[in-house]
Amino acid sequence: MAFVHTSRHQEMMAKAQRYFPGASNGNAALSPATGFVIASGQGSRVYDLEGHAWIDYLLGSGPMILGHAHPQVVAAVQEQLSQGSTFFYLNDKAIELAEAIVTAVACAEQIRFMSSGTEATFFALRLARAFRGRDKILKFEGAYHGSHDYAMMNTEGQQPQAYPQAIRGSAGIPKSLEQEVLIAPYNDIERTTAIIETHHEALAAVIIEPFQRTLSPLPGFLTGLREVTAHYNIPLIYDEVVTGFRFAYGGAQEYYGVTPDLAAFGKIIGGGYPLAAVVGKAEIMASFAHAKDDGLIVGQVGTLNGNPIAATAGLATLKVLQQAGTYERLHTIGQRLREQLQATLREHNVAGQVLGDGPIFHVLFTEQPVQTYRDTLTADAQKQRIFHNALLTHGVLKPASKGYISLAHSDVDLEETARGFDAAIAEVARAS
Ligand code: PMP
Repeated sequence: MAFVHTSRHQEMMAKAQRYFPGASNGNAALSPATGFVIASGQGSRVYDLEGHAWIDYLLGSGPMILGHAHPQVVAAVQEQLSQGSTFFYLNDKAIELAEAIVTAVACAEQIRFMSSGTEATFFALRLARAFRGRDKILKFEGAYHGSHDYAMMNTEGQQPQAYPQAIRGSAGIPKSLEQEVLIAPYNDIERTTAIIETHHEALAAVIIEPFQRTLSPLPGFLTGLREVTAHYNIPLIYDEVVTGFRFAYGGAQEYYGVTPDLAAFGKIIGGGYPLAAVVGKAEIMASFAHAKDDGLIVGQVGTLNGNPIAATAGLATLKVLQQAGTYERLHTIGQRLREQLQATLREHNVAGQVLGDGPIFHVLFTEQPVQTYRDTLTADAQKQRIFHNALLTHGVLKPASKGYISLAHSDVDLEETARGFDAAIAEVARAS
């Protein structure tokens, strides 16, 4: 597809450059050559100002699992809009959504709403510190838990350090916080266990993406982590911002069958509006409301906590997800796209590893099988860029990190996507 850049497009891009640092709001970054301004989204597609369409596997970075502007979500939100937007008070929609989430999620006895996944992991960690009376947290190398100071240590793209040394992944984080975070290798239960055994006295929590970015847990990894954290009474926190209500209605904890003590949710539960939550055992959640020996409760106040419009969109989304066959469909599409990628790599004789699980897919151009964060670093960055840019020019929006699948993706979309894979991997082959 040739991009026709009209004056309206040029004007909006120029304004974005003028008003936003780096022409970005911290969302997906596209190069100026491939960048565009989204005007609307409908079902499986997004449209730019000129009306070009892309099959959308970005899905707003994951929330839009039903597709864009789903009629049931739109209708529910429209009705709520006329009832008022926010109250900073208990409201019935937030209470109903709380019940739906607590009913669905194994570790959830209670819930506290907030507005972003970043807040959810930040407050889950604060809550665990209050409960345990210790300060340090353990996170995994390459894991992403949002952009707060504790989360942005050893994130994706950073060079490896000797475990368990934490290194800041953002400017502006106090250096002293590197002493508060320990880093372990995802999918290496021996080394992770050794770090926990050495530091258990100081640890307040272990936080993990059960499915880390694009990496599936090896058999026994989550169980092993559950055993060692339970042994030392260290709260285990699942970051289910991505996996919650996506891998299964009960999230990764249902899908992998290993239950944490606390979990952070975001994305899907707000149905495309700003909503996130910390859920977990009542005994730990109690610290939001009841002081321990130090006389302090866990401070967590938010103007938009449990916002009724977001809660309404979340409830409408969960209602659709509960219909028979939804997760089968999401997993079937995921499987089909992963098989398609595999077959296309083979056809073009291009070395690559197809990653993902359930409704998430990705490919890394490397000969090495990928199980750990360090394996991902062997991918050829230039080929990754060629692939994703070529997909864009063939009408497929797949973020460089991973592709998300929605219930709106039709068989026609999948056929078009397969043609996009073919063209994009052919370009990678030509560049090899
Ligand atoms: N945790 C994970 C696993 C995520 O993928 C993200 C966002 N992509 C976050 C936390 C942060 O969520 P938010 O962008 O809503 O702050």
